[in-house]
Amino acid sequence: MTPFEAELSSRLEAIRAQGLYRQLRRIDSPQATRIEIDGRSFLNFASNDYLGLAKEPALAEASIKAVEKFGSGSGASRLICGSLSPHCELEELLADFKQTEAALSFSSGYSAAVGTICALMGKDDIIVLDKLVHASIVDAARLSGAKIRVFDHNDLNDLEKILQWADAKQIDGTTKRPNVLIVTESIFSMDGDSAPLREIVELKNKHGAWLMVDEAHGTGLYGLNRRGLAEELGVSSEIEVQMGTLGKAIGASGGYICGSRNLVDLLINRARSFIFSTAPVPASAAAATAGLRFMRSADGESRRNNLKERVKTFRAVRGLGPEQVWSAIQPIIIGSETAAVETAVKLRDAGVFVPAVRYPTVARGAARLRITLTAGHTEDELAELFNVLETVGLGSGCNEAK
Ligand SMILES: *Cc1c(COP(=O)(O)O)cnc(C)c1O
Repeated sequence: MTPFEAELSSRLEAIRAQGLYRQLRRIDSPQATRIEIDGRSFLNFASNDYLGLAKEPALAEASIKAVEKFGSGSGASRLICGSLSPHCELEELLADFKQTEAALSFSSGYSAAVGTICALMGKDDIIVLDKLVHASIVDAARLSGAKIRVFDHNDLNDLEKILQWADAKQIDGTTKRPNVLIVTESIFSMDGDSAPLREIVELKNKHGAWLMVDEAHGTGLYGLNRRGLAEELGVSSEIEVQMGTLGKAIGASGGYICGSRNLVDLLINRARSFIFSTAPVPASAAAATAGLRFMRSADGESRRNNLKERVKTFRAVRGLGPEQVWSAIQPIIIGSETAAVETAVKLRDAGVFVPAVRYPTVARGAARLRITLTAGHTEDELAELFNVLETVGLGSGCNEAK
């Protein structure tokens, strides 16, 4: 074994020893409430395809049309010659959907976070993060070189303390105040709870900070027009940077930023993950456009309502009280990494696919089964889930988050 391979083996062994080893699993079917692995069908409670759009024919047809007209590749980055009409149509629709002056699409939500935060913030600035924000935002904040302060999850007092501390700061050698950017999610990806966006908006206005909200798990699900939780809480126009992904409820892939014309123009000029990367393939942009259209239609509304009903059933049967904001993400906290993995294996043996989410996705010792409900799940499929949970000792009334 070469020294390189020996080093890798020992690192992998350390990951295994902590119960944190991960493997890819090959899925041989489209995303749906049932998926096929190794010739066996599993009931799927793992997907973020909340509205069941990932295999919706309208999206596939839009992709095929885009391939027929524009081919498979986009040829270059957006600023060279890769800015094709499917990208531009997607961005016009996104701005119209979110009712912002402009929108910019990225190849993923991850790259939207990294490009945007690094374009806006630098070493003289301060980024204030909720403790549970997504890894893409944490990585972005670190890469930007700005000072990072973390407030306890959804803790407004802690947030205000940090904003007061920032108020007193001056950029070294000047009398200028640093820019302060607060970043949070609307619906938290691994807990399914929601941020108090109204109160956060109040605080950021009081202290002259900027606010970026990641609606990865809110877009398509909340508000009269399904723009997200910010719409439902009536604060969209107060959020400087509205971020989201096209890969979850929208059923395609990619990320987006919605905001002012100036914000988007600055990102086109300064967001390195946008500038130095080949444009997404035309099929991907076209699928996202079709996904947005579907989601905004009456069918999208009825899918959202179906999902809401399934969540209601889940919480009623599991003996969970009402949530402040309903959510498709319903974790069962296990604690130990090994125990979570063992339980997930037992569920799989019984034909139910639920991921065991572990460090570094969540804190050490807070491993969980992350159950996600989607609009396509039937009441019968839920009943099957409840039965199987019962057989692994996770019947109604067991320790659940929220
Ligand atoms: C999935 C996710 C992202 C990343 O989006 P991708 O399009 O999958 O790269 C960002 N933030 C949150 C909260 C997410 O759940």
